Amino acid sequence: MKTLSILGATGSIGSNALEIISQFPDRFAVAALTAKTSVEALARLIVRHRPRLAAVIDADHARQLETLLPEDLDVKIVSGETGFIAAATCPEADMVLGAMVGAAGLVPTLAAIDAGKDIALANKETLVMAGSIVMNRIARCGVKLMPVDSEHSAIFQSMAGRAGNGIREILLTASGGPFLNRTKSEFDSITPADALRHPNWSMGSKITIDSATLMNKGLEVIEARWLFDIDFDRIKVVVHPQSIVHSMVTYADGAVIAQMGVPDMKGAIAYGLSHPRRLPLDVPAPDFARIGQFTFEDPDLDRFPCLALAYVAGQQGGSCPAVLNAANEVAVAAFLDNRLPYTGIHPVIEETLNRHSPRNGADLDDILAADRWARETAKNLIRRQEN
Ligand code: NAD
Ligand code: MG
Repeated sequence: MKTLSILGATGSIGSNALEIISQFPDRFAVAALTAKTSVEALARLIVRHRPRLAAVIDADHARQLETLLPEDLDVKIVSGETGFIAAATCPEADMVLGAMVGAAGLVPTLAAIDAGKDIALANKETLVMAGSIVMNRIARCGVKLMPVDSEHSAIFQSMAGRAGNGIREILLTASGGPFLNRTKSEFDSITPADALRHPNWSMGSKITIDSATLMNKGLEVIEARWLFDIDFDRIKVVVHPQSIVHSMVTYADGAVIAQMGVPDMKGAIAYGLSHPRRLPLDVPAPDFARIGQFTFEDPDLDRFPCLALAYVAGQQGGSCPAVLNAANEVAVAAFLDNRLPYTGIHPVIEETLNRHSPRNGADLDDILAADRWARETAKNLIRRQEN
């Protein structure tokens, strides 16, 4: 029996995880659930899964949530960053699933590690911002870190859990997103609705936009650098529009081991929660004869410059990946809000990085300061364009 705290329970990853948990009541219990503002959805999950604790973004939403719950329910409602930390560290939990979106996941995840919880991590922004700090704490606290991102789960599975053993390089696959076959001249007219239509994966809106710019793959390159302790020049991105090969590892003898499956996050989530055991899931295997063809190509960095930017920021290290991440979060939010064109996303991130004075050996305070500075800078750049 494993007891879980789920940060970001109402999101795409959180809901998939709770579906799996419902299917295996003898295996999993829920200690705490969190959401930002979606109190109705969270209330339903609380009634269904009976956590001891639930957290939302602020006191207002906590009050709204209270009014939606039956009075006899034994659940403590908390709020704000301290509330998220309480959920991440609650004594009953053995493992924390980090399924919040964005930088908000970092501090609660670190608190969970310090409290000795095993971590299943979907929230890649945490590793992008502070990979070195997170990995050091994981080692120091002796807890387990399981990747939930499908590519990283695939790499982990292709390494059979033995990182570093004769590995030549990692091949991170990318679907290429909805604009893989559009010419650059067509990019000016891309709307949020176009970008939200991902060909293969159904996900939250922020990561869906990241997939359309290939920033998602850039964030995943940085995530892989930390999870598997491998240099950037040994992490290659390969576009594979069928999204069946979830990623691959090339070994010293030229052998390549891949992990495959249909594009459904349940496999990676369940493996993250129950490793080393594989759970019997209601997920079909790929029908290879029907798929017919696998294709692979290099990413086009001219049309998708965010990927190149992520490599640069990752290689610079220190506070730069946190700046890349924060500027991207601000630019994506502005794009979704129709305040920035699709083609404006990359320039905002690039200009924010250009203005940043990098800090090497950044500690957590430096990272959080860089995050705040980059948000302010990116917002100002966008505001100036609007005027
Ligand atoms: P989502 O938008 O569907 O859900 C996000 C969840 O986090 C919600 O419960 C929301 O209430 C909560 N949240 C949002 N902002 C918050 C904040 N500021 N503070 C506290 N809570 C907040 O997102 P998602 O698609 O489930 O993605 C979650 C994370 O998993 C992201 O980091 C994403 O990159 C990663 N991921 C997602 C997928 C996928 O298939 N959806 C795949 C791989 C990795
Ligand atoms: Mg992924």
